[in-house]
Amino acid sequence: MKPNLDRAIELLRGKERLLAFTGAGISTESGIPDFRGPDGVWKRVDPAEFTFDKYVNRAETRIRSWEMRKQSGVFEAKPNAAHRALVDLWVAGLLSGVVTQNIDGLHQAAGLPDEAVVELHGNVQRVECLECEAGWPTSVVMARVDAGEGDPRCPECGGLIKVSVISFGQAMPVLEMQRASELARRSDAVLAVGSTLSVYPAAYVPLEAKQTGSRYVIVNQGPTEQDNLADVIVDGAAGEVLSAFADALR
Ligand code: NAD
Repeated sequence: MKPNLDRAIELLRGKERLLAFTGAGISTESGIPDFRGPDGVWKRVDPAEFTFDKYVNRAETRIRSWEMRKQSGVFEAKPNAAHRALVDLWVAGLLSGVVTQNIDGLHQAAGLPDEAVVELHGNVQRVECLECEAGWPTSVVMARVDAGEGDPRCPECGGLIKVSVISFGQAMPVLEMQRASELARRSDAVLAVGSTLSVYPAAYVPLEAKQTGSRYVIVNQGPTEQDNLADVIVDGAAGEVLSAFADALR
């Protein structure tokens, strides 16, 4: 890892509009499993069972979804060294923002202000009614699940409720996609961290940055689908690598 770590630091040195594009791998060191890594959720669960269509049409899918959320570790997780290193780069004025595929809220929990973070796939800390405008902190709904409601409904209108995350088959949030695209076009370097870069349209974000002139560094354990486009690839743990970046660059 060392030669590529040094090359990446040299490539990032002097850059002032660094964009971080993060995926599930940045949060595994906080105890949240990723989807496609060696211990990923999709090794145990079939993603085709959790599409938006199935959620809306099958009580069984909703009941399993609430149970899986409870067991995911996401509600107990704390930010790790990689999240903190991005805060250090932000405070040093080198990071223009973080576009994340993650739904865990750990970038903000580490100390990044809301305006620095674009959540492309939503946030698990909030639940919304799919039929009326009502919404609640997820803890409120989880207390109902814990009390025995397997398939809780909206107390206002009786409609289906769902955590505010984008499931397979659901439309992407327009405003967040626009903000991500602006950050990509303005960046002078893009740093993809902990992602297989295989989920689209999210994975267009680092591509857009690269196509508009940014240098491209990938930090990931294992291969990604954009390895052929990167200027440097650092195969290592996000916490260790990003801490080294922050120490060297700030
Ligand atoms: P992914 O599961 O496809 O890929 C994660 C990658 O990170 C893998 O290649 C894995 O080997 C690597 N990795 C794991 N731990 C690492 C570490 N400590 N350091 C460096 N690399 C590490 O994840 P993805 O590309 O983000 O796509 C999955 C989708 O699942 C995303 O859209 C996201 O919304 C969602 N997801 C989010 C969370 C979360 O919020 N924490 C968790 C699981 C899945």
